[in-house]
Amino acid sequence: MKCVFLGIGSAFDAGQTNVSILVECGGNRILLDCGFNAGHACMNMVPDAHDIDALWISHFHGDHFFGLPFLLGSFFNAGREKTFHICGPEGIEDKVTQTVNLAYPSLLGKIGFGVVFHEFKPGDVKFVSGFGVSTCAIDHSGSAQAIRLECAGKVLFYTGDGALNDDCTQLAKNAQLGILEAYSLDGPVKKGHSSIMASVNFAISARIDTVCLVHLENFVRTCRVKNVLKQFSLSDSTVIIPEQGQVFEI
Ligand SMILES: [Zn+2]
Repeated sequence: MKCVFLGIGSAFDAGQTNVSILVECGGNRILLDCGFNAGHACMNMVPDAHDIDALWISHFHGDHFFGLPFLLGSFFNAGREKTFHICGPEGIEDKVTQTVNLAYPSLLGKIGFGVVFHEFKPGDVKFVSGFGVSTCAIDHSGSAQAIRLECAGKVLFYTGDGALNDDCTQLAKNAQLGILEAYSLDGPVKKGHSSIMASVNFAISARIDTVCLVHLENFVRTCRVKNVLKQFSLSDSTVIIPEQGQVFEI
């Protein structure tokens, strides 16, 4: 399983692409989240991006799904014919349809390829485009869900945004790679978000081999990296702050 970090930025970090990860396994590719500027990164950085099989939307904040009008429009321009699978929390079809219609009112009517929606409730387990997909609720906005992706014996856990809970610990158990939102360093955590230290402790409890921390608040990411690195020495898991474009194989 190969993971390409197309973006690692939080919602309003002007210097970064919003968090978005392309996961490839067994010849299939699923994109995890597609925020404001992530569609552009995807089409720029990924060979044959118009051929990606599926998309997971973790929740309905703009920095996680407002890149969809651009992405679907780019697929259309490239003459895509292959069906595209869009997975997400309850309401996924309505949210995506409204968003794309606002941007390009005629696009969905002429798009030329199938768009199939897969709606997940917390606890659902489904098989989409070669990936086993299971989810749990996470404490963020409304219907936000974390995801466990399985393919060819490899396991990836991705939070989207949110404060970690016991269901997340169960869902993430023994994942080889955890991609966790961590907004602050430690101390008081912004409501509905995680921190670096909370994420490291979570990784140890869930026995995650390698943790990639994303969605860091701009000041934490740019000014407090030395403190962050000191904290890492406390951890049994390997903890990484990936850069945009970084690739991990598990
Ligand atoms: Zn959010």
